[in-house]
Amino acid sequence: MKRIGVLTSGGDAPGMNACIRAVVRAADSCGLETMGINRGYHGLINGDVTRLDRRACANIIHQGGTVLGTARSPEFRTREGRARAIEVIKQWGIEGLVLIGGDGTFRGGSVLASEYPVKIVGVPGTIDNDVYGSDFSIGFDTAVNSALQAIDKIRDTALSLERLFFVEVMGHHTGFIALECGIAGGAEELLIPEVPTSIEELCERLRQGFDSGKRSAIVVVAEAEQPGISFRIADEVRDRLGLDSRVVILGHIQRGGSPTARDRVLASKLGMTAVETLVSGRDACMVGEIRGEIACSPLQDTWEKKKQLHPDLKKLGELFSGRKAFPAMTEGR
Ligand code: ATP
Repeated sequence: MKRIGVLTSGGDAPGMNACIRAVVRAADSCGLETMGINRGYHGLINGDVTRLDRRACANIIHQGGTVLGTARSPEFRTREGRARAIEVIKQWGIEGLVLIGGDGTFRGGSVLASEYPVKIVGVPGTIDNDVYGSDFSIGFDTAVNSALQAIDKIRDTALSLERLFFVEVMGHHTGFIALECGIAGGAEELLIPEVPTSIEELCERLRQGFDSGKRSAIVVVAEAEQPGISFRIADEVRDRLGLDSRVVILGHIQRGGSPTARDRVLASKLGMTAVETLVSGRDACMVGEIRGEIACSPLQDTWEKKKQLHPDLKKLGELFSGRKAFPAMTEGR
């Protein structure tokens, strides 16, 4: 193998640049050339390819977003689109591809690899942390910390004005971001898709909290593929409890910003491992980290298997929102 390509695809995530940099440096140390493919599969189809060397990756490790750009490419879903991408791969002599993105990106890469013999290795890069095969994906830690900073600020005003706030965070169809920033931010309530909560239950617990002397509360809501759902929940709570509230949708500020140290280190480790994996002849897998160790999973696991919340964190979230009484805690009372 003499030349590989690297692309970022799907939603951008802080730490993608650290991963690109590690790919280039690892490839360089193995005597491989790296081609950077701009704007994900869109760039691959259109031949938007540039040589990346160590200099091209200088001073990017601290930058959010992705210097390669990213895109969603409907054309790549078609055989004609992928045929054009294959022509570009042939033209540039690319023998292996490092795909930084989510399960959609890996699925697209697998279809491509079934039509042309290019080796592919995936690296999980998404703030949502919903990719099976890695405890954490690149960008998640930064997104949680960005959301947490916002929650801390909102708590100041919630306390001062004695108000109920609904803070809606991203997470695609999962509650990974909501669970971690809710626990760390001391949220009174967590609404995540993995733990269904009726409006009656929510109102009852909020009522109990306010009856017991609380004057403000923060409810962290996972958008769960219904961005803006917090407005409807806030309206229902007002109608049932007569409680006025404010809704804050954190939105895309969770995607941006300089990556945390944890994301930079994870991204660097996975970028290096992706190149090592290609060089060793393995492919069609995703490199991730499970319990602190590097782990390679079959690429198809990422779209066939569903990643679960960590049970201890889920339990903690339930405990903090007063959802459950644990036997160990109630014994002897
Ligand atoms: P995120 O989690 O941030 O949304 P993702 O990688 O899951 O990231 P998608 O938009 O689902 O994001 O996929 C990225 C791109 O991968 C798509 O725009 C499309 O070009 C390609 N892709 C996804 N699924 C397929 C598929 N079944 N066949 C071919 N290409 C696909």
